[in-house]
Amino acid sequence: MNCWHCGTELIWGGDHDLEDMTDEYDMVTNLSCPNCGAYVEVYRPVQREQKSEVKEPAYSPDAPWLDDAIDRVDPKKLES
Ligand SMILES: [Zn+2]
Repeated sequence: MNCWHCGTELIWGGDHDLEDMTDEYDMVTNLSCPNCGAYVEVYRPVQREQKSEVKEPAYSPDAPWLDDAIDRVDPKKLES
């Protein structure tokens, strides 16, 4: 990565975790320019789960009892 001002290759300074400071970014990388002294911070956005383009099929409105039935199943009874 080159300096925005003079085009010189930047020197990597280090990475810092931001998990406790912001929900938007989870890491910041700082770089500096050995030529003009510019200082650059690159904030990495939090990697959120990609939303799928394919929509999940909705639960069938014809069987609204199914959710209730699943909730009522006792896993202990299934083992016996
Ligand atoms: Zn520079």
